[in-house]
Amino acid sequence: MSSSRYPASVDVAVVGSGPTASAYARILSERAPGASIAMFEVGPTVSSPPGAHVKNIEDEARRAAAQRASEGPGPGAETVNSPGAVKSGERRARPGTYLLQDGYAFPGEDGMPVAAMSSNVGGMAAHWTAACPRPGGKERIGFLPDLDQLLDEADRLLGVTTSAFEAAPFSGLVHDRLAAAVDDGRSPAFRVQPMPLAVHRRGDGRLVWSGSDVVMGPATRENQRFDLFDESLVRRVLVEGGRAAGVEVEDRRGGGTHRIAARYVVVGGDALRTPQLLWASGIRPEALGRYLNDQAQVVFATRLRGVSAEEGQSSADGALSEQSGVTWVPYTDEMPFHGQIMQLDASPIPLADDDPVVPGSIVGLGLFCAKDLQRDDRVAFDDTAVDSYGMPALRIHYSLTDKDREVLERAKEEIVRLGRAVGEPIDERPFVLPPGASLHYQGTTRMGQYDDGGSVCSPDSEVWQVPGLFVAGNGVIPTATACNPTLTSVALAVRGAGKIAAELADALLMSDSDNRMTK
Ligand code: FAD
Repeated sequence: MSSSRYPASVDVAVVGSGPTASAYARILSERAPGASIAMFEVGPTVSSPPGAHVKNIEDEARRAAAQRASEGPGPGAETVNSPGAVKSGERRARPGTYLLQDGYAFPGEDGMPVAAMSSNVGGMAAHWTAACPRPGGKERIGFLPDLDQLLDEADRLLGVTTSAFEAAPFSGLVHDRLAAAVDDGRSPAFRVQPMPLAVHRRGDGRLVWSGSDVVMGPATRENQRFDLFDESLVRRVLVEGGRAAGVEVEDRRGGGTHRIAARYVVVGGDALRTPQLLWASGIRPEALGRYLNDQAQVVFATRLRGVSAEEGQSSADGALSEQSGVTWVPYTDEMPFHGQIMQLDASPIPLADDDPVVPGSIVGLGLFCAKDLQRDDRVAFDDTAVDSYGMPALRIHYSLTDKDREVLERAKEEIVRLGRAVGEPIDERPFVLPPGASLHYQGTTRMGQYDDGGSVCSPDSEVWQVPGLFVAGNGVIPTATACNPTLTSVALAVRGAGKIAAELADALLMSDSDNRMTK
């Protein structure tokens, strides 16, 4: 072992720096301020403060460089800004993300051709759209009595607002037309409404997108006992006497492999790499990697006619963004799709030269479908092959069921109906994006009420077989959600962090009083 930039021991080692890992750091900093925390992220720091959304970088070249630096060490690939552009069947990643090079599909299965990851401080939330709707109906986790309080906390950590796009041209018109088509018979929580977004406007009118920097907040950054180590790959979680005891970290900058002892370990490495790290550590509960689910996604575009160019122009400058969910059509158990309706500053497809686009008048509709969960849909690991970090290679087994196909057909009909209700369709027909396009992968380290072989962790996100080891991220969500999952997974992280903070606060108190007694 060589000399190390890492501490020999900490109270809590956190793997990953996405919003869920950052939620642990924030809650621990707030509720157990005496606890030492080390966060390890395999990717580089690409923005300032660390974890900030790259869209907040004003200079285009610097923003593009930050995106490229987030795309992992494998051979780079072309990226594509609009999710609709992958409909041509090309395997293209979104900027700031990279795709699995192999192992994404097997004969006779649908596979997940565009399963993607980000490797950078802040994780995918340095690149995300920031839509933060709440789960409803069967999307909710029935055995968590405190789910609503946890979601409130997640709103606070992520800085969620519903006002960022309120000045967008024609948003009232789009809302009213959708509401007329959808709201009948729905209770208020399920009616058409502004999309909750982790976005706010600065005093000068510029949009600020929340990333992990906002989740960490000053409470974490100013915590003298918190350290963030980038370019640090956690290769193994250490277990001693059946309990989490630390991590083994490869320093990708300084070289060498180092062991850091920890009382608690939190793994928030995304829904594909959290189970990978557990597997690599020999922690292999039956449900690990299973119940993998992605949200099948249908897209469609429509155009508002008869709207005034002046009105569009007057409020357009910076009022909209290339990708923003402006209006939300909530999921219901009867209509198991989540609608994210975006108004664009410009058309995503070329229109005739003599047909100028009124800003805000092109409306992109997206419906995400809840998956029919299957135990066999899974990410498995190959002990004989490795990924570009030298970790066990990911192998995705994934298939849509008859029920999934039926729901997709209904979503296609519904999106055309909504598109017609709003304006004149631009597309001839809706497109179904390839599996993986939602970027919302769930279920692989799922939470359960009991340790019955169907889950990996407890309602506090603590791995059943390994006390002191916590998992974070969308993989923890046990239900089939259609809504964007990050708010929910941050809420679950708040609960897990609360448990560690309470235990640590007790332990720190006891060691304080022991110290006083021996003086
Ligand atoms: P991540 O953000 O994926 O972070 C995991 C981090 O762990 C990564 O940085 C990774 O490098 C690191 N890591 C992994 N393994 C290791 C290891 N062994 N050692 C050290 N570090 C490791 N979600 C929404 O809810 N709403 C949206 O509108 C939305 N839009 C999106 C749009 C885009 C273009 C993208 C890319 C994503 C979008 N998402 C959206 C998804 C959202 O970003 C993720 O749900 C969220 O970031 C997940 O957070 P996380 O903390 O679980 O993991």
